[in-house]
Amino acid sequence: MAPAAVCNNTNCLHGSAESRQTPIFKDQLSLDDQFAKLVSGIPLTTYYNDPSVSPIPVSWGAATPTSRGPIVASRAGKGVKKHNTIGSYGGCYNIYHALAVASHQLNPEYRADYTNAEPAYHFKPQPQWFNKEKIVALDPLGHLAPWEYGHIAESEEVEIKPTISITKAHLQLLEMEDYVKKGELEVDGEVVVNQAGDLAVTKLAVDPVWYLPGVAKRFGISEIELRRALFNDTCGMYPELLTRPDIKTFLPPIGGLTVYIFGNPENISDSSKKLALRVHDSCGGSDVFGSDICTCRPYLMFGIREAVKEAQAGGAGAVVYFQKEGRALGEVTKYLVYNARKRGGDSAAEYFKRTECIAGVRDMRFQQLMPDILHWLGITKIDRMLSMSNMKYDAIVESGIQIVERVPIPEDMIPADGQVEIDAKIQAGYFTTGNQITEEELKSTMGRSYTELK
Ligand SMILES: [Zn+2]
Repeated sequence: MAPAAVCNNTNCLHGSAESRQTPIFKDQLSLDDQFAKLVSGIPLTTYYNDPSVSPIPVSWGAATPTSRGPIVASRAGKGVKKHNTIGSYGGCYNIYHALAVASHQLNPEYRADYTNAEPAYHFKPQPQWFNKEKIVALDPLGHLAPWEYGHIAESEEVEIKPTISITKAHLQLLEMEDYVKKGELEVDGEVVVNQAGDLAVTKLAVDPVWYLPGVAKRFGISEIELRRALFNDTCGMYPELLTRPDIKTFLPPIGGLTVYIFGNPENISDSSKKLALRVHDSCGGSDVFGSDICTCRPYLMFGIREAVKEAQAGGAGAVVYFQKEGRALGEVTKYLVYNARKRGGDSAAEYFKRTECIAGVRDMRFQQLMPDILHWLGITKIDRMLSMSNMKYDAIVESGIQIVERVPIPEDMIPADGQVEIDAKIQAGYFTTGNQITEEELKSTMGRSYTELK
């Protein structure tokens, strides 16, 4: 077993080596008896009408941080009685946290020490942060939690964790070096910091926090319908979805998002300045490993370049990167679809059908919740939208943000095998400045078959 991580900060309240190594069951009971003992000591859920339950008040959309109140998910300390959120901090990573506890490498009572962890850039509060309709899928005060609500954590004996963090970095991307060499990107020492094309960036990581009535409203369904589906589809992982109608917020175990801002972050909410923006949904195969079956990395690099150029011209540029692998169907489904495509004659005409055959739908990204981060940033107008997706465009415009111009990926950046995807998407409604594609043309756009792959 790997040794437990050791923090040198003397303020940290790490568990002792002894507590990490103490097994839960010391006596020699049968497995049946061990389970009986386990279940008798742990309430399987809490109930809204239990008089001993007293959640810390939270009022989504309230006008100030104090009247809004903290998002309290943890069961640590007095959290079992006082939490006001369903689910756990850390989204899907909570399972690793559980493994660290189960393997005695982490004391379950360990409390984070946030010394020097406060945001590297302080975003000005926006009116949208206090509007319960505009933001329903993230906690607008998630970056302030430990500092704004630390006194509540202490006095109420609960654990309050941030769901947003903000830092600064340099990015090194081979494409940017190439753009500098070709004269397509200028070194200004501020955004493009050197001849290697290194980029200065302010970035935010955001874990999702759902305000259930607001999420239900976005989808035009009732809160009960939403709770029921979430309970069933997670195989009962969150019984409080059914037993705590008084709790309105939920931390879903799904991927979050990252925002990369180039130039002065203050410009992003200033509608007198131009903004170039790409909303990108993750594609590990292309974004990281360079697979040529889609246009993801090329469009991402184009998006970064254009965002940088807008920032250099005195405006703002940003890329919002959502963890929604394979159109939020997951990478396993994605590869199954690739197989079905490559074995069935990979034509643009059949592109979406292959996904529908396996997943039942062509897309589960549900862009309805995507604009929340744009509202959080205070964006009211996007001058250059670096995306062809009609779903993203519709969601943004319907949420009240103006889009001035839509910018498709340049033709010469589309990999040969990725033409199938882009043609199918254009035919399905994606924006293009080129010709619309006919049904006939769609049939003739073919990708490689497996016999042509090395
Ligand atoms: Zn891709």
